[in-house]
Amino acid sequence: MKWSWPIARFAGIDVKIHATFILIVVLGALQWSAFGLPGMAFGAMLILALFLCVTLHEFGHGLVAQRFGIPVREIVLLPIGGVAALTRNPSKPLHELLIAAAGPAVNVELAVVVSPPAPQRAIPAEQCFRHIDGWPVNHPRRTDLARPLHPLQATPPFAQM
Ligand SMILES: [Zn+2]
Repeated sequence: MKWSWPIARFAGIDVKIHATFILIVVLGALQWSAFGLPGMAFGAMLILALFLCVTLHEFGHGLVAQRFGIPVREIVLLPIGGVAALTRNPSKPLHELLIAAAGPAVNVELAVVVSPPAPQRAIPAEQCFRHIDGWPVNHPRRTDLARPLHPLQATPPFAQM
């Protein structure tokens, strides 16, 4: 694909990024810009981690295609996702089905690997709400922020009767 450059090679398959890929990294950084430079770095890293998963998904398609004797020209990463470019279409429908299913199968495997283990016991609801957004509900700053938003609390306490 034009305007794309190789960044890695695995199992004989070049992984390339398209010139427009930088747009999604910048967008990811901007989404976290409220947290300053560390936030922007986090946003960019989040997008790169997401596209690592996209790359593994494409390798799912590519490696199964290679197993059925179909050479893979390249994997290209674009802002909208990845493309595993096969040199030809599979001749058997079952091969095509397995090649198509291999990408999502990688996603399922990734979900199992990165998911945290289920909690051993249920967390009480009041404990969940107490630490919402990292601020305890009874924290002075949380109360100050919340009070003007509630119409009854905006009036003095003696006027609420
Ligand atoms: Zn796919």
